[in-house]
Amino acid sequence: MSSTHLALAGGKPVFQGAWPAWPVFNEAERRLVLEVLESGRWWYGEKVRQFEAEFAAFQGARFGVTATNGTTAIEAGLRALGIVEGDEVIVPPYSFMATASSVVTIGAVPVFADIQPDTLCLDPAEVERKITPRTRAVIPVHVAGYVADMDRLTALAQKHNLRLLEDAAHSWGSQWKGRGTGALGDCGTFSFQVSKNITAGEGGILLTDDEALADLCRSFTNCGRRKGSAWYDHEYLGSNLRLTEFQAAVLLAQLGRLEEQTMRRQANARILDDALKNVPGIRLLAFDSRMTRRSYHIYLFRLDEATLGLSRDRFLEALNAEGIPVSKGWYRPLYANGVFQNAHRGPAHGIISPLAGKGVDYTKVQCPVCEQVCRDAVWIPHQVLLADEDQIRLVGEAVGKVAAYASDLR
Ligand SMILES: *Cc1c(COP(=O)(O)O)cnc(C)c1O
Repeated sequence: MSSTHLALAGGKPVFQGAWPAWPVFNEAERRLVLEVLESGRWWYGEKVRQFEAEFAAFQGARFGVTATNGTTAIEAGLRALGIVEGDEVIVPPYSFMATASSVVTIGAVPVFADIQPDTLCLDPAEVERKITPRTRAVIPVHVAGYVADMDRLTALAQKHNLRLLEDAAHSWGSQWKGRGTGALGDCGTFSFQVSKNITAGEGGILLTDDEALADLCRSFTNCGRRKGSAWYDHEYLGSNLRLTEFQAAVLLAQLGRLEEQTMRRQANARILDDALKNVPGIRLLAFDSRMTRRSYHIYLFRLDEATLGLSRDRFLEALNAEGIPVSKGWYRPLYANGVFQNAHRGPAHGIISPLAGKGVDYTKVQCPVCEQVCRDAVWIPHQVLLADEDQIRLVGEAVGKVAAYASDLR
């Protein structure tokens, strides 16, 4: 049987080995975790402070405040920005649920604005269309590490007096005109959950250049204590969102290799871009020279099924058979989830009740670009981009093979 036969049609797969595993660790994690263990200082101390300072510096921000995860970091950030019950916050529907659920959790109302077809990030024109007298903030998501158009979003925020919180949970290392994400807006939040490019299993951080905002966020994450106040003096309504020294130890070690990994992912993404850009039916994301570094949490492209002559499902199946780890990723817009579709029916449980009685009906929300992207996106996870160049070239080869012999699968 010739090597041009698709694996799905009984041919030889392009690749039969393993792809890089995630998470990764080495002696650095082992040494730092053991150091914390043996020191007996397990609680919110020196290592947490050190990681906050080093990660903030890595992204070019003045202040860093850690939290238990990326979700609670967004919630604390929104509260610190002064968002209160009933305020409207504009969010994209192509994201992880936390982008929108955090808004609901603090009692505010998420308003969905559509994304751009070639960046998959918030479309500033759509944001402007969704602004009402109640709009207080916008949460751009740097999807897959692609930086949202912060020039236009910042201009919009200034014009309409809105706060900007970047959901940077995919963009550790991404830069816009040489500046790291996170402090491009008023503040930005990151996640260190296990699927992310730098991880301690769980964890999160908020970055900002605004000292007062950082202090308020610190208070919210540390039981409402105020800087310099007594231990049992609780000035604000806070919560316990503290990281442990064990997590900080792992994160410090992980941060030590983030730069090199980011460069490797970028170089491999360029190889993939070159291999895929002329394949009919494959649509790469737009090139934007203002995005001076890109973290590539996901290597993402879109399919034109008609040109390709294959459905996405069949395309993914064929590539998986060739040994390539691709998937369709998030398969529906955030507002299509029950938490929003049922929200107007009144309080049924704790999560949907904050939206009840606010006059919102998410069953009528439509973001056609996001809906189309959910039907045609293809995802390759970041750890694949840590493979060596020769292995990366096989991804291009496999896509080319499936596209060329698509007619065998119809
Ligand atoms: C992972 C993620 C979050 C939430 O982070 P957790 O640490 O899992 O709470 C928020 N936004 C986006 C876009 C994410 O991918």
